[in-house]
Amino acid sequence: MSFHKEWVISNTGILMVLSTEAITIFQNYIQDDEKKLEAGGILLGKRRRNHFEILHVTEPTEFDQRFRYHWNRSEKSHSEIAKKIWTDSRAEITYLGEWHTHPEAYPTPSSIDLEEWSLLTQKSTQKSGLSMIIVGIKDLWCGIAQENVVTQMNKVS
Ligand SMILES: [Zn+2]
Repeated sequence: MSFHKEWVISNTGILMVLSTEAITIFQNYIQDDEKKLEAGGILLGKRRRNHFEILHVTEPTEFDQRFRYHWNRSEKSHSEIAKKIWTDSRAEITYLGEWHTHPEAYPTPSSIDLEEWSLLTQKSTQKSGLSMIIVGIKDLWCGIAQENVVTQMNKVS
């Protein structure tokens, strides 16, 4: 089984495309066993007008706090990785959003997720929003968060 790569907001046509590398990393952290803890990181890639091209994703670091139903990413370690990739790519590859896992087959954002995304988008200078991905056991949940609005994406068939 492989997660779907191309996602769209139907009424605006905003696209998000995931690299094979991103999908592979997501699959390594699927919580399909009760011992597996939540994982997550940041999404890095290119913005093409309003579209999102996710090229790299960071993986959990030893500094993150990981639990079965929650996780806290260490701001420092992930932003250091992001800064290095940004510099190495001559500023072409930037921060696009966040990902984390849920121990449910078809994930949906929790109220905590929505609160955290709202805070992140308020801090962000990007008017076109941030990409948010939840990795479930059988499927992804993909969406774009802007200030207080979160719009779910659909699979491009
Ligand atoms: Zn969550």
